[in-house]
Amino acid sequence: MDKHLPEGKLMKNEHKYPGKFIAERARNHVVNLTSLGPRVAGSYANEVRAVNYLTAVINDTIKQANDNHRIVVDVTKHSGAFPLTFLDGMTSVYKNVQNVIVKLGPRRDPEHSLLLNCHFDSFPESPGGSDDGAGCAVMLEILRASHGFITQHPWAKEIKAFINIEACGAGGRELLFQAGPENPWIVEVLTLLGRPMATSTIQSSIPWSKYLSERSNALATIYSR
Ligand SMILES: [Zn+2]
Repeated sequence: MDKHLPEGKLMKNEHKYPGKFIAERARNHVVNLTSLGPRVAGSYANEVRAVNYLTAVINDTIKQANDNHRIVVDVTKHSGAFPLTFLDGMTSVYKNVQNVIVKLGPRRDPEHSLLLNCHFDSFPESPGGSDDGAGCAVMLEILRASHGFITQHPWAKEIKAFINIEACGAGGRELLFQAGPENPWIVEVLTLLGRPMATSTIQSSIPWSKYLSERSNALATIYSR
């Protein structure tokens, strides 16, 4: 099933596909982000070079945006803490973590928003390609942020739903592995896609996905506050 992927669109043919996701451009974002090396939170690579890269791409997109759309970018710094029930329980504390937040909408202020979320930092010694450079690349290309944002940013009030784009391992199709209990509409929207893939078996069958599930639950808990 993993091999059953749609063919990625190339930049040389993009004039034929206005408004479509160009896979080659997204892949280039992964290459450019990973070429910065490990992007550990607090490092120059993460806080300066990765943020500069993301904002440059976003500002480029803003310049080319249709007049009907308003795209606003905001880079914020947050400090805070939240509890995790993972393992025996721990508290995650962060200080001056940067969020690069982009708001895409109509010219007039919208009442409701959908939040797409990923992270651009990585583990030490990892270039963070799949986790989570690919998520950032997908979001940058779709355009054509998290606890700190949702608890402290004024745009958070209008968020009615969020989608967290994460990674576990490298390779395979993207899949929906967890959805909130009271919003079946998001699964219904998924069925409209060309080749949707979703499963509920992963989170209950292997410990690693239990961890992912914990992280996802932590995010869901934070965002529902
Ligand atoms: Zn991750």
